[in-house]
Amino acid sequence: MEEQANLQKMENIVALCKRRGFIFPSSEIYGGTGSVWDYGPLGVLLKNNVKAAWWRENVQLREDMVGMDAAILMHPRVWEASGHVEVFTDPLVDCRKCRQRFRADAVTGAVCPACGGELTEARPFNLMFKTFMGPVEDTASITYLRPETAQGIFVNFKNVLQSSRKKPPFGIAQIGKSFRNEITPGNFTFRTREFEQFEIEFFVPPAEAEQWYRYWVKQRADWYRNLGLREENTRLREHEQAELAHYSQGTTDIEYRFPFGWSELEGIAHRGDYDLRRHQEYSGKDLAWFDEQTRERYLPHVIEPSGGVDRATLAFLVDAYEEISGGRGTAGAEVETVLRLHPRLAPIKAAVLPLVRKDGMPERAQAIHERLKQRWMVEYDSGGSIGRRYRRQDEIGTPYCITVDSQTLQDGTVTVRDRDTMTQDRVAEGELEAFLQEKIGVC
Ligand code: ATP
Repeated sequence: MEEQANLQKMENIVALCKRRGFIFPSSEIYGGTGSVWDYGPLGVLLKNNVKAAWWRENVQLREDMVGMDAAILMHPRVWEASGHVEVFTDPLVDCRKCRQRFRADAVTGAVCPACGGELTEARPFNLMFKTFMGPVEDTASITYLRPETAQGIFVNFKNVLQSSRKKPPFGIAQIGKSFRNEITPGNFTFRTREFEQFEIEFFVPPAEAEQWYRYWVKQRADWYRNLGLREENTRLREHEQAELAHYSQGTTDIEYRFPFGWSELEGIAHRGDYDLRRHQEYSGKDLAWFDEQTRERYLPHVIEPSGGVDRATLAFLVDAYEEISGGRGTAGAEVETVLRLHPRLAPIKAAVLPLVRKDGMPERAQAIHERLKQRWMVEYDSGGSIGRRYRRQDEIGTPYCITVDSQTLQDGTVTVRDRDTMTQDRVAEGELEAFLQEKIGVC
């Protein structure tokens, strides 16, 4: 029963995303790919806001962090040093009858879940996309689309140290696309073959590593909650020893209760000196840090909070999504949808609406729109009844609707309707910037 309701909820969210221009199936007019998605006009705003909130918190507000933006294509040796060529695999099984492929850990028994045919033994399947660098397609020019952004940071560790005058403990933050040829993509944007990551590599003196690991687990969990994810829908899961990746001395996942079950949003890993040591070995370059004060030379240990922008965006969408049957009294008795997104994340911060299309109200509303759009994403809408327009904005998560009515023409005040409480305050036109600034902050 609950499972059915959850599936229905997920379907409704996917439908809303398509209908209102958040997320579309990629290459849909050709039948789609089923493994990648495109962000539409509202989706790109939402996703950009998620990235901006992450960057602000982790780079702008910190003195011990700098950002960077590495290339997707890297020297092929990078992926040997990182261990990806050797071990970045998932176990794959084939159906002998219908030829479909599955992740071995996603099927039970030796029977094909699609046709009941017999499955092959599991074999490792490397998830990296292979490609060729340069005009010659031979083995010497094979490289990969990066399966994580992290390696772009490690190979630039020395460059950043030398150019930024930072010293451990300090971090490098990066947002960018990654690619994995997932055997079974699915659950909307949760698991795709092209996705975006936000990753931090935080370099620390070895003796402080454990303490920084705990610090980042808490810091990252707080970030999601401060932006609106409900406490009861998030949890931490520490990996058992046997589950740890080849580089990890400890990993904690931040999980979110999606309609399809508890799943990983972000992993925080204590990687020891694995990455710098391997790159030192494979490149032959000294990557150690010399601490002038203690006169010690060492390879810093790394704490890595690694999250997915698309997964975070999906979690914020799911958590904000609410269907109110019977409506909220604005009009009619059908189901109303409200996206209770945190104002910082909402794609449109305010809508400016003339109550009716006469008496100079549209001109007055347009002038307000002109002014406010200099600072925020603000929409002007004069089409349909005011109740309809409020509902349209509720559905895309706009926190405030500013309405120009007949009183505006007399005393220069407008109403500001709050998406969540539906209360309406009268605010002087000239004070709208200050009002929104206080409610939404710098965006
Ligand atoms: P999973 O177990 O779900 O495959 P993972 O443990 O392999 O994930 P990491 O390698 O830790 O993932 O990647 C860090 C983050 O990148 C994940 O927490 C997730 O948010 C994001 N991510 C990884 N793979 C994908 C994908 N295929 N689609 C979307 N996001 C992804």
